[in-house]
Amino acid sequence: MKTWDNIVKISRSVNDGKLSAVDLVNESLSLIDASHDYNAIISTIKKRALERAKIIDNAVKSGKNMGRLAGVPFIAKDNFLTFGGETTAASNILKGFNAPYQSSAIEKLESEGAICVAKANLDAFAHGASTENSDFMITKNPHDKDRVPGGSSGGSAASVVLGLAPFSIGTDTGGSIRQPAAFSGCIGLKPTYGLISRSGVVAMASSTDCIGPMTRTVGEASLLLDIMSGRDSLDSTTIDKDSLGYITLDSDIKGKKIGLVKEYFDESLSPDIKASIDDMVNKLKTAGAEIIDISLPILPSALAVYYILCPAEVSSNLSRYDGQRFGYSYKAANDLNESYSESRALGFGKEAKRRIIIGTYVLSSGYYDAYYKKAQLVRTKIVNDFHKAFKSVDFLLGPVAPTQAFKIGEKSNDPLAMYLSDVLTVAPNLAGIPAITIPIDIKNNLPVAIQLMAAQKNDRKLLGAAKKIEELV
Ligand code: GLN
Repeated sequence: MKTWDNIVKISRSVNDGKLSAVDLVNESLSLIDASHDYNAIISTIKKRALERAKIIDNAVKSGKNMGRLAGVPFIAKDNFLTFGGETTAASNILKGFNAPYQSSAIEKLESEGAICVAKANLDAFAHGASTENSDFMITKNPHDKDRVPGGSSGGSAASVVLGLAPFSIGTDTGGSIRQPAAFSGCIGLKPTYGLISRSGVVAMASSTDCIGPMTRTVGEASLLLDIMSGRDSLDSTTIDKDSLGYITLDSDIKGKKIGLVKEYFDESLSPDIKASIDDMVNKLKTAGAEIIDISLPILPSALAVYYILCPAEVSSNLSRYDGQRFGYSYKAANDLNESYSESRALGFGKEAKRRIIIGTYVLSSGYYDAYYKKAQLVRTKIVNDFHKAFKSVDFLLGPVAPTQAFKIGEKSNDPLAMYLSDVLTVAPNLAGIPAITIPIDIKNNLPVAIQLMAAQKNDRKLLGAAKKIEELV
């Protein structure tokens, strides 16, 4: 496993002419080649990456500063539309799809000199918590090849921990950045909903989809948020970034109130994780934080709400893949209807079909009121309860998942068991609040992490506290 320098240091060295972007890209590409066993990467963008690297090296030679990420290679989850290679979302139905434009997040990273070198594996269309739902392959946990790296951004998390590139980006609709970050052992930030543009990212559930960085340090995640955040005319749900930016953080925890969410510490939580969190809570107390027990009784309903609303939005978003416009198309069809149905039947995997069926069911006229509408009402209650909680505490703290990384195959034949592993991550998505995973321990040779949450638009404050926790580890 390679340990890269901090990305601030790398880009400084590139801008000073001490490091070559071409060398950095080549190094990342050869590490990717050598990491085959882990199945973290679907494809590389070699030609374009090297072209961009050459342009950056030449510009530096002529005295230009190429930005805060000059020459820094990175890996994008394969649901980000990218130039220079296919975007598949790890689904057979998108095989062969070359995006006509790039995602806004990648455009912003590139505008600061970063270079996308590869596309990471994921659960197809980001549906899952282990990468076992990828139509192509299962990514392996960097600490134990018999275990999952988490999901759906499992390839992105494994890439960072294996050191294939200095950072990666992922998406989080119900936990897909935070849970793989916890299982694999890196920082994973899900910002406030709307803070990073969703334009050019394959849509899953549009009302909870978020984009975020996966890094080795909180400081690097802050820099990447600073670069990717802000309004974008291509996504009308985007919001302004914090006027102070996200680079200089206030990591003083003295007098800050941290709520321990009672519902996040029930009997399903692994005692090992509980013990590691207790240790960190004690350190936070010693550092001057005020620890408060808090209850949000609505939280156990969040999983049910998510698994109604998410498939409802998925069923709508996946309707565009009909074999006519992009990706796979069934060639032997006798008419248009057969082309639609066979392209979808053969192109979609099992989990995508399951979500299309559940989503269509909860949106159908006979069941809309009983399921979809009711779930929306409970969602509003979740939003309100978080809002209330953040009137009395600065942060909420809890585990990311009930267990450490589970074994490959352990839950893949039981969708309900897989859905249950999302029980602690979905609520922040439903409420649109920011949340971050910070690794705090290693137990059983696997990472243990905590999840820290803050009120909407308090990403800067959240990152400051996360930095403090990182220091206390
Ligand atoms: N594991 C959750 C699901 O399967 C979350 C996925 C995500 O955040 N993309 O829906």
